[in-house]
Amino acid sequence: MRFFNTYSRQIEKFEPRDPARRIVGIYTCGPTVYSRAHIGNFRAYIFEDLLQRHLELRGYKVHRVMNITDVDDKTIRGAREASVPLTKFTAQFKEAFFEDVETLRIKRADEFPAATDQSYIDRMIEMIRILISRELAYQAEDKSVYFRINKFPDYGKLAHFDLTQLQSTGRVKHDEYDKEHIGDFALWKAWDEEDGEVKWDSPWGPGRPGWHIECSAMSTALLGDEIDIHCGGVDNIFPHHEAEIAQSEGVTGKKFVRYWLHCAHLLVDGQKMSKSLGNFYTVPDVMAKGYTGRELRYALLRVHYRVPLNFTWNGMNEARESLGRIDEWLARLQEITEKENVECPTPNAERPIQKTAFEDALDDDLNISAALGFLFESIRETNRAMDENKLDAGSAKAWLDWWKRINTVLDLQSESEAVVPPEATQLAQERDTARREKNWKRSDELRDRIFALGWEVRDTKDGQKLTRRAAK
Ligand code: AMP
Ligand code: ZN
Repeated sequence: MRFFNTYSRQIEKFEPRDPARRIVGIYTCGPTVYSRAHIGNFRAYIFEDLLQRHLELRGYKVHRVMNITDVDDKTIRGAREASVPLTKFTAQFKEAFFEDVETLRIKRADEFPAATDQSYIDRMIEMIRILISRELAYQAEDKSVYFRINKFPDYGKLAHFDLTQLQSTGRVKHDEYDKEHIGDFALWKAWDEEDGEVKWDSPWGPGRPGWHIECSAMSTALLGDEIDIHCGGVDNIFPHHEAEIAQSEGVTGKKFVRYWLHCAHLLVDGQKMSKSLGNFYTVPDVMAKGYTGRELRYALLRVHYRVPLNFTWNGMNEARESLGRIDEWLARLQEITEKENVECPTPNAERPIQKTAFEDALDDDLNISAALGFLFESIRETNRAMDENKLDAGSAKAWLDWWKRINTVLDLQSESEAVVPPEATQLAQERDTARREKNWKRSDELRDRIFALGWEVRDTKDGQKLTRRAAK
């Protein structure tokens, strides 16, 4: 297996810390629960889901941790504006997050540590204490504690950033007055009035942790000092992940992460989908347009994680169409396996299944586009063989078994979503009769009525097939 490591900017062969036990520790930066996550965030989580599932398909045991950032500037501001306690404010968005995870069929991480958990706060304080004792951090006059980036020579290695270019352009914010270097980042933020009730005691006075130290504390607490894979979106590289390296390695003296994997952004009209630009959709927004979680999962999954993906409604319709092709293919295969002694003039004429092509593509830095390309090429070929009545029950069964295996990674099998409602089935039967009577006008009318119910009719040599129609 090979991955592109942001640290080296190279494709590297994957070797976990513990190859014998085949355990892989993965840390993924989770949501900041100040509002509902948007589907750009979910592109990152779906890429991480693909990573986990593929490692598992290849026989690794994955231990995945995803943190929940439930205290930072944005959550505090949100709670203040809503006039509710911080925990109450964040609880609703945590709940919404887990709902969306379910809708998109994302495997849950083994742990979802929350930054406000007292045991993690204690650990953050302990890490900051060690950093100060090593002169890697200092308390400034504003009472906040900052990391001293000049003392950590590797600072900037992940982002490939030249420290000398980090120069002060003047005093931009009041809380930066006391820093030694413009790039020094807060480990502990001294309490101020705007924080209200949100504060913890520390050796440096009341305050709260900085965002970066939260991830260093929770990742090392649950996965150990050295982590196999750390993921996030590309916007996390600097300063967040750069800071995580400085803090964690500053404390442990060990290499924090072996492989850094970052996904490119989900875009809207060429711009990053983000809260601040206001160009975002949430999962319920997309569902409200008539799409399913499975369709959105497909739309966010289908492009290689390092390639920016433009979100469009047309793309959603394409996702629906692709899934329709998979559903129809599976139904046809199923039908063949169910027909005993199927007449098959040239049994096994269809070429043998290249069982590994899909997985091999994913081994290559999770090349999902190539993997799906292979799936659809296989669908085309088997459909052709089925059209010519050249696919025997044994081969059909082998394809279905293969699908079952790759679907542990894709998780795209249709469930109740594809159940055709009885009204649509009734209309389809009437349409069938109309067509037998060559009453094309009535047949078209019935097609329109079926369409109005959300279904599309396709005439195939095996009769009519109903699929969910694309939403407008
Ligand atoms: P946040 O809640 O902003 O900390 O983001 C949570 C995760 O979503 C991080 O891994 C971000 O890098 C990622 N993310 C944010 N916006 C996008 C986007 N438009 N496309 C892909 N990933 C994103
Ligand atoms: Zn993080």
